[in-house]
Amino acid sequence: MTERTRPEKIRCDACPVMCYIAEGKIGACDRYANQDGRIIRCDPLTVLDKRIADGGEIRPFLKSQWDGALVGDGDLFVTAVGSGTTYPDYKPAPFIVSRELDGVDFVTVVTEAIFSYCGVKVKIDTDRHLGHEGAVVRCKGEAVGLMITSEYGSQMMSLGGVDHLTGGSKSEGRVTCDALLRLCNREAVELSVDDGATVIVQAGQAPIVDDVREERMRVGCGSATIGMFAAQWQGLVDEVVIVDDHITGVVSEHQAGKVLGWPDTGIKILGRRSTPGRYFQVAQPGLGWGGTDIEDPLTILGPWNTKKGARPGLTLLMISTTGEQWGYYVLDDDLVPQPTDLPAALQPTVDLIAENCEPALCTVMFMGGAGGSLRSGVTRNPVRLTRSVQALKTQVTCGGAPTYVWPGGGITLMADVMGLPDNAFGYVPTPAIVAPLEFTISRDEYRALGGHDASVRAISDVLEHGGEYGADVRAVPRVDGTD
Ligand code: SF4
Repeated sequence: MTERTRPEKIRCDACPVMCYIAEGKIGACDRYANQDGRIIRCDPLTVLDKRIADGGEIRPFLKSQWDGALVGDGDLFVTAVGSGTTYPDYKPAPFIVSRELDGVDFVTVVTEAIFSYCGVKVKIDTDRHLGHEGAVVRCKGEAVGLMITSEYGSQMMSLGGVDHLTGGSKSEGRVTCDALLRLCNREAVELSVDDGATVIVQAGQAPIVDDVREERMRVGCGSATIGMFAAQWQGLVDEVVIVDDHITGVVSEHQAGKVLGWPDTGIKILGRRSTPGRYFQVAQPGLGWGGTDIEDPLTILGPWNTKKGARPGLTLLMISTTGEQWGYYVLDDDLVPQPTDLPAALQPTVDLIAENCEPALCTVMFMGGAGGSLRSGVTRNPVRLTRSVQALKTQVTCGGAPTYVWPGGGITLMADVMGLPDNAFGYVPTPAIVAPLEFTISRDEYRALGGHDASVRAISDVLEHGGEYGADVRAVPRVDGTD
């Protein structure tokens, strides 16, 4: 009788979860596996290859073709995607790669960093009101972030952060981590705002607000729109009102109209007058005209004043900030605006507003803090790395994408997820997001800050032999703006 033996599990120590993984199985994060009794990284190490045209073929790296004489160091950039993690941080980063650029020795330290302190800032190009500033944003019913400031033509969300990841319930942390992961990997995520809208967000795609795909980003606020196009309306219509939740503009009163000698019309706008021809709060925020809640723009008009120029036959164009909604009216004998067909001569002015709107998009910026322990994978004296980054001697990239490092203490960075290779982000169930991080620095500076100089390897060696977690390599095209 043959004795049945249970396959031996081995422990992955790439994060605090410490999975025991059986032969042929993968760990809890889907990123590591037990292959032939060895822990390997399931995804290949990703190399950005300048020689592959944008949008070109993604392929396994052809090691047989590797020849330092044929492929210059500057053509290849080893990203941290698929590299493995430094955890538990007592050891050097998975790859510390030497490169010669313009005759100078550089080192790139790559590691997949585990970020408990991280989140995304989301910019959603839309006029439609998503929710009030401070409103809770939910995914699958769990609080994952909040609405923050409105920006010019966009609304902003701050999602994730350590409070949602680890400071709330287990479910809140799990859902937050999943939402962040999918947003960072450019997948679509449905979010709902308390007392606001439901929006499907996907990096690089138009937002879908309450099932309606947003098409255009406003050309400007109502006041700016008046300023930009006042001259085009002159002589074609007596009055123009740009309906906007922020600033509703009125051409006859606006400085742009005054400069052009535009006559008064006796119009009355029901809103809080800011300066001439600029009105706040003409309605409540909503999904209607110009981000207001109105469907009939005439509701923002008060009685017309004959002493200031109102008269039967006066013509009025009302239009939203994206040019999506518009109406043309003529005052009747009782000075009531009556809807009328838009004269052909005015149509190009309406089209011009729409034409000047950009396509509405969602932008997802990953934001995280490279913590103290992660830095020890780079140098034995972590604060020196921080100082080197702050002194701009060390360049920080995220999967090859440029980052913005916040001034002040620490290494708190932001990166546009559109600049990374596909599926560059991962997670661990602690929960936390795993993001690729590369530090590029001159060899001299690396030595000076106490770097793990003995672990520096030639790029050819990395491509040939891989690292602790396997030897698979894939080459992908560089994304615009990456090293
Ligand atoms: S969750 Fe992933 S990284 Fe963490 S121990 Fe398990 S397999 Fe390794």
